[in-house]
Amino acid sequence: MRSLEHVAALRALVAEWRNQNLTIGLVPTMGSLHEGHRSLVKTAKKRFDRVIATIFVNPTQFSPGEDFDDYPRQIATDKAMLGEDGADAVFLPTIEDLYPRGVERTTLITISDLTNELCGAHRNGHFDGAMTAVNKLLNITWPDAVFLGEKDFQQLFMIKQMVNELMMSVEVIGVPTYREDDGLAMSSRNKYLTDAERSKANTLYQILNEIQQALQSGSNDFLALEQQGLSKLQAVGFNPDYIEIRRQRDMLKAEPADTELVVLGAAKLGRTRLIDNIQLSR
Ligand code: AMP
Repeated sequence: MRSLEHVAALRALVAEWRNQNLTIGLVPTMGSLHEGHRSLVKTAKKRFDRVIATIFVNPTQFSPGEDFDDYPRQIATDKAMLGEDGADAVFLPTIEDLYPRGVERTTLITISDLTNELCGAHRNGHFDGAMTAVNKLLNITWPDAVFLGEKDFQQLFMIKQMVNELMMSVEVIGVPTYREDDGLAMSSRNKYLTDAERSKANTLYQILNEIQQALQSGSNDFLALEQQGLSKLQAVGFNPDYIEIRRQRDMLKAEPADTELVVLGAAKLGRTRLIDNIQLSR
């Protein structure tokens, strides 16, 4: 596996592969890899000749007061995992490489509709930062496809929207959420959980499941389901940001006639912010 730190070096490697008519899949990450990330790499490797993973803790997607400085970093372990899983290159840019004019002066990508909703309502500027970083990585690598986790459903949806609206020719492939045995969605941030918090962290998933079942049994009282979910989270010690029932197609609020839905939730447990979602048909 090649390890590259500079934009020019990665572009040269991509050009070499393109000259050999090889296809390329991209897996962007912030590192501190777990089985969720690894399933993206393995899925990409099955479909494409070459897989590039990127590890970059992107400062512009953290709001002031969030965990940018504390975000877990374990580059050597990450590289070993990526090598095992069949990645052909790992790109580890510096902040200066991706933001040559500085993070304060960068051009930002704003996806109009959803930037300030759901996670965006609770993380100021988060999606502008995330879209900008993914856009840069796509422009450097021009992959055939980018692989993203369904765990971050809103992010996946917004990246699809960016690719469509900015006429970018790359396929966006969502990969199902990889979970711990008790249902907790894997996340690099789960490392922050204390033992006591870890033992109840799967409550978020359980509540989303209960709402899924109610929706599939025909309930259309979305507001009541959302409110009950929030109360249950509070009762076990979470500090919820939101629970919302939206439709998959356009992420607008669900209407009773809608059949393809997604239940999304985000809540803090101690210092850890957990997010999860369940897609369902009815
Ligand atoms: P992150 O390093 O948290 O920015 O995540 C990098 C990519 O991995 C994103 O596309 C995430 O949606 C995806 N991802 C994170 N956790 C999981 C998981 N548990 N299952 C599947 N994909 C995941």
